Amino acid sequence: MKTRSFLHPALALLFASGCLFAQVTALKVGHLVDPETGTSSANQVILIENGKFTSIGPNVAIPSGASVVDLSSYYVSPGLVDAHNHLALTYKEEPEHNSYYLTTVMDSTAIRAIQAVSNGMTMMSAGFTMERDLGNNGNYADTALRVAIEQGWVPGPTIINSGLIIGTFGGQFSPVPEREMLIEPEYLNADTHDEIIKAIRRNILYGAKVIKICVDCKSYGYSVEDMKLFVAEAAKSGLKVAGHVQTKAGAMRAIEAGIWSIEHSIGLDDETHKLMAEKGIWRVGTETPFTSYHTNTPGAKERFDKQTEGMKNAYAHHVKMAFSTDADYYIPGMDRGQVVIDFLKSWQAAQIPNAEILKIMTINGYKVCDMYEKRGPIKAGLPADLIAVKGNPLEDIDTLRDVRFVMKDGTFFKKDGVMVPAQFFHSGPVPPSAWRIH
Ligand SMILES: [Zn+2]
Repeated sequence: MKTRSFLHPALALLFASGCLFAQVTALKVGHLVDPETGTSSANQVILIENGKFTSIGPNVAIPSGASVVDLSSYYVSPGLVDAHNHLALTYKEEPEHNSYYLTTVMDSTAIRAIQAVSNGMTMMSAGFTMERDLGNNGNYADTALRVAIEQGWVPGPTIINSGLIIGTFGGQFSPVPEREMLIEPEYLNADTHDEIIKAIRRNILYGAKVIKICVDCKSYGYSVEDMKLFVAEAAKSGLKVAGHVQTKAGAMRAIEAGIWSIEHSIGLDDETHKLMAEKGIWRVGTETPFTSYHTNTPGAKERFDKQTEGMKNAYAHHVKMAFSTDADYYIPGMDRGQVVIDFLKSWQAAQIPNAEILKIMTINGYKVCDMYEKRGPIKAGLPADLIAVKGNPLEDIDTLRDVRFVMKDGTFFKKDGVMVPAQFFHSGPVPPSAWRIH
């Protein structure tokens, strides 16, 4: 059979050398927001080439032939981060009465992976260019989502995914003995030290970029020694350990073991906050707002008030805090991105200053994702991700509710308030097999 040539050899050479007329994009920015310092600079020019920022400043010359985009009436900020979500899980009132245990029986991993793509795009539309995805994603639907985005098949945020949640026997589930098999693949049972090592390696092999564990989902949760093993074994592959914590005792053990992040704030108080600040442990609080669509839960207001006090206490103690939602459910009339951005209400209720909220949603997000050096800040040499809004988020954080432009890797995903995903759909690997890095 004759071999078909797809590319003229001269063109192939140019592609290989990476110098095929790289298009420069120039953004004329009205106000460039720096969440790190809480300041903004007027009349900036941003140059982007090969998906990366190359020059940023007030007097940057725009090269001839550059594609110029006028953002002079906008505030441009780095993209937002949700540090705790589950894009391949959507539980709902119908038919499963919001019981995700039932969702895991009714929805296949394949259908959840496709749903995750849709959820990821709505997150991007809401301005979230990075997301930590912490389990409850069937049989590695989260890895499938990450790979699809990294390969350039679909648009979506940069995903830091955990694979299966590793827990002591049963995970967060309480199955009957006849249905023990329902624990996996939602959770990976690991009780002994050998099982813990095997579970971590299994997750890494199947594409995890962070290790998520159930610290105290059962009375026989993980000990300090167990968690030290988690931290050490994950570190061999450069991964951090995020722990679901729901009791103070669990929080104290996780802190002693030196875990990277504590997920949820229910087990945290003044004492744990002080220790977390001392040890630099991330607080990924997942604080649900008090809204018209959440008020039907019994005790919601009391929980919200307690949660608000907890946020104020953590902020006063200078605990490292991350914007995080755990928003893995369907609210009629809202997409995933809209549900997530509405969590601003929790931060506003805790009276965290606007500029601090923006820093928490951006800089702190890149840091808890362990990506700060690689992606996130608007800085020459880093991938070109950014958003543009009409007002100054340093003064009015609610302006983030109407993100008008979203750029990821130098390509606009949203322009003038409308999603424009066409350029993100490739059929082949871009770059070739980049995700196979174990
Ligand atoms: Zn969660």
